[in-house]
Amino acid sequence: MAAKPQGYDFLVECPYNKVHQLENGRRFQIHLIKCRKEYEKKFTAVKVQCPFNATHRVNEPEQRYHVENCPDRVIVDKFRNPIVDSLDALQRKEVKMIMEDDTDDWDREPPVPAYDPQKYCESSNVIRHCRGMQPHERRAFRQQELVRLRGAKALDLDNK
Ligand SMILES: [Zn+2]
Ligand SMILES: [Zn+2]
Repeated sequence: MAAKPQGYDFLVECPYNKVHQLENGRRFQIHLIKCRKEYEKKFTAVKVQCPFNATHRVNEPEQRYHVENCPDRVIVDKFRNPIVDSLDALQRKEVKMIMEDDTDDWDREPPVPAYDPQKYCESSNVIRHCRGMQPHERRAFRQQELVRLRGAKALDLDNK
């Protein structure tokens, strides 16, 4: 899309002619119908099907504009979200399981400050490998890994 003049972020580009830049809304819809008619007079319009609704068939130049503005896109997005949500929930459940699994390993150790589940996930595999070590070895190993994963912030852990 061509660079828009400053302060005109709401402008949309006509799919039939880049030079036509109009305020999105009713005016643009009227303009689009006009340009569509002109285009169909001059060219044999190739119709393309909307990915969100098989009954939507638009002229090829309008495809991108339609996909971005299709009213059925909302329905598809809503349909997708539960899948993402459940995946997210699944990952959370997994993290919880790892946490419960590990609690007996780290008893009597001070809790890690600024606990971050994301970082915990990344580091959990590493931490779980150090089972069977002596407590002081384990602490040193863990410290080493934390330094690697979190940077210098973890350095003050052992000073507490
Ligand atoms: Zn136009
Ligand atoms: Zn559509």
